[in-house]
Amino acid sequence: MIVNNLKDVEQKIVYACKNAGRSREEVTLVAVSKTKPIEDIQEVLKNNIYEFGENKVQEITYKYDALSKDINWHMIGHLQRNKVKYIIGKVKLIHSVDSIRLAEQIEKESARNNCVTNVLIEINVANEQSKFGFLLEEAEDAIMQIAKMKHINLQGLMTIAPYVENPEDNRHFFHNLHNFFVDISNKNIDNVCMSVLSMGMTGDYQVAIEEGATMVRVGTGIFGERNYKQIRRL
Ligand SMILES: *Cc1c(COP(=O)(O)O)cnc(C)c1O
Repeated sequence: MIVNNLKDVEQKIVYACKNAGRSREEVTLVAVSKTKPIEDIQEVLKNNIYEFGENKVQEITYKYDALSKDINWHMIGHLQRNKVKYIIGKVKLIHSVDSIRLAEQIEKESARNNCVTNVLIEINVANEQSKFGFLLEEAEDAIMQIAKMKHINLQGLMTIAPYVENPEDNRHFFHNLHNFFVDISNKNIDNVCMSVLSMGMTGDYQVAIEEGATMVRVGTGIFGERNYKQIRRL
């Protein structure tokens, strides 16, 4: 089941890269394992995928302790400031920096741990009320401020596009964000190396890749549908 899903996702990534004249190596697949049990993650690990995304601090720390230390954990969900301390040093990349105050907390906890934390800035591309993240017009200012933080390594941008039936409806959001990503890269801001553009989920990752995503976050497409009741028992 999971093995077949992985083959299918890999094929679609290859196809989207080809369509866009990009090399497969430019795109990293993050397997979004939220709500899924340890055994499912082990199944994916067997296929030599080591990047996993989670959106809850408690779940990341539980799985971090239970699984191989070779795994690179990606925090992709809204992060409360009082929980930052539990994941510093355990995650490879925090995708969801959605406020200056959160960045300040990450800076503080990283300094305390004597480490530098890799982060992305989350952008609310469609100005959705229900979503976290900076609006595109606020983003440059936020980047300038976060770039000054010594224990944060700002690596790029992340977005969660609107839920749509037809992924083509999100193409212009991905296109705009990629343009902004290139603009910021060209400004050569000190301490900012824009190398990661995290966009695209099960419903729209092929379009995101065609528009320049360097990281896609796929959950359902790999693990199947989520059962949210399951996780409350974790
Ligand atoms: C759950 C989640 C995903 C994966 O969603 P699917 O549609 O299951 O692929 C990707 N990114 C974020 C931020 C998520 O919370």
